[in-house]
Amino acid sequence: MLGVGHSEALKHWNNNAMVEAGGRRLLIDAGYTIKFALQDLGLGLADVHAVFITHAHADHCFGLERLGYECRFQHGFRPTLYLPPGVYEELWEHTLKGVMGQVGEGPAELDDFFDVVLLEDMSFEFEGIQFQLFQNQHTPQKPSYGLFINNHLMFSGDTRPIPDLVEKFTPEVILHDATLSDWNPVHASVRELRETYPFEVRQRMHLMSYEDNFEQHRLEVESEFAGFVRQGQEFAL
Ligand SMILES: [Zn+2]
Repeated sequence: MLGVGHSEALKHWNNNAMVEAGGRRLLIDAGYTIKFALQDLGLGLADVHAVFITHAHADHCFGLERLGYECRFQHGFRPTLYLPPGVYEELWEHTLKGVMGQVGEGPAELDDFFDVVLLEDMSFEFEGIQFQLFQNQHTPQKPSYGLFINNHLMFSGDTRPIPDLVEKFTPEVILHDATLSDWNPVHASVRELRETYPFEVRQRMHLMSYEDNFEQHRLEVESEFAGFVRQGQEFAL
C-alpha cells in the first residue's frame, strides 16, 4: 500500500496501491500524492510500468498528469494505462485534457502519454497476476470499480458496503474502504461495516482510505476487524 489516506488526510498519502510481479510494477490508482509515496519507497515515476484507475477522483487519478508528462518527456516511454468501462471519457475529456491536451509539439491525446487499454471484458492480466474487475458502490451514476486479484484478495476501491460482492467472490483477504465519520453518502462508515458484514468476514477485512484520527479508533477496529491497513504494508497475492 503506497498510501491509505482519505481524500482529506494529511498524515498518510492517497489510498493507492502497487503490485510488483516479474520485476515490473503496476499502480492501482495514482492520486496527487503519488510522487511522494513512491519516493518513500526509494522509487520514482520511471519505475512504474502500468496503472489501473478505479475511478476519476483527484486522490485516485491526478497523479497521471505527472506520470504521463515525466515518462514521456524525461524518460521516453508510455506506461500502460488500464481503464475500466466508462472511465475513459471522465478521465480524459473532463479531467486531464485541460492540462495535457496541448503540449509544445501541438495537440495531444491520452494515448500520446499512455498505452491505453480499455477493459471491456472486466478482467486483465499483469505479469501472470489475474485481475477481475467489479463495479462497486461509490458516487451514484459515476463509473467506479474494485478488483479481485488472483482469486485471493479483494481491493474494494472507494465504496459503500458491498456485501453481495464479498459473498460472491469469497476473498481470503479483503481491503475495504472505511470512513471514521458516522455516515458518508459515498463511503462505508466503520459502524455500517460492523452492521453489514458478519464477524467471520470482518476477521479477513482490513480497513483503508481513512482519516487522520485513526488512532482513536484503533482498538475498536483491531477487535472487530483484521485492523487498519498501514501505509507501506505488503500483502502476498
Ligand atoms: Zn472516490
